[in-house]
Amino acid sequence: METKTKQLKKTLLIWYKKNKRTFSWRETKDPWKILLIEILSQQTQIERADTYYKKFIKEFPSPTSMSNSSLKKVLTIWSGLGYNNRARRLYESSKILAENGFDKIYPDFEILPGVGQYTKNALLSFAYGEKVLAVDTNVERIFSRFFGIDNTKDFIKDNSDYFLKKVNSRELNQAFMDFGSYICKSSNPKCDICPLEITCSKYFFEKNNSIEKFRGSNRELRGKLLKLLLENNKIKRDEIYIKIDEKEEKIEKALHGLEKDNLIILKKNIIEINSN
Ligand code: SF4
Repeated sequence: METKTKQLKKTLLIWYKKNKRTFSWRETKDPWKILLIEILSQQTQIERADTYYKKFIKEFPSPTSMSNSSLKKVLTIWSGLGYNNRARRLYESSKILAENGFDKIYPDFEILPGVGQYTKNALLSFAYGEKVLAVDTNVERIFSRFFGIDNTKDFIKDNSDYFLKKVNSRELNQAFMDFGSYICKSSNPKCDICPLEITCSKYFFEKNNSIEKFRGSNRELRGKLLKLLLENNKIKRDEIYIKIDEKEEKIEKALHGLEKDNLIILKKNIIEINSN
């Protein structure tokens, strides 16, 4: 699991460096700007939310400027975005913030109307540089598919410290956001151009095959073997024979295939994952 987690982090950050979307609020540490874009982008495509963000930040550069204005004015600028309750909550938040400031309520941002765990973590990561994951549906989907798990909430909770080790959480959270929008989309994920496809559980188990066709195939066996090796890093041949319910000759064929693809290293009695 450790190797697989490392691969996900590394690959995601490399992909992000080459493909990241540029928005003015991406570079800021101003919590008001971050709160604004987070509220605007709830249930709204990021490009569309960005258009509204520009209007909002021009009119309300601070919580005080919004709180001194009126709900009617906020709703007028919000017009066309839908889910008007979000505008009302944003206005109420500006009142609280004008009186207290972000630093006074830090880290309890969930006291602001409309701020849940995701937005709280986004504020902690983007504005305060804290090592937290802002877990939204994008992150859950990528974890679920890549690791082949259903209970992503518990999995992320148990592994987030390790996952955030030695990385900039701000970059990692933004990488998840963009990767989930462009590559690992909710429908029709672009597995064919995905840099994670070699180790992705979903890719191994679903791509181009019905379950029936897949069962008992060499590809299924390769997936099982790779999963076992990623969980253990290295493993004795005899152990593989015990753990994988398949004929030894089929296992050997699959192992040699994985070695040919540079995914594993075959030694006399030990098989290890190729982390180079
Ligand atoms: S291979 Fe497909 S399912 Fe797996 S992470 Fe990439 S896009 Fe998502």
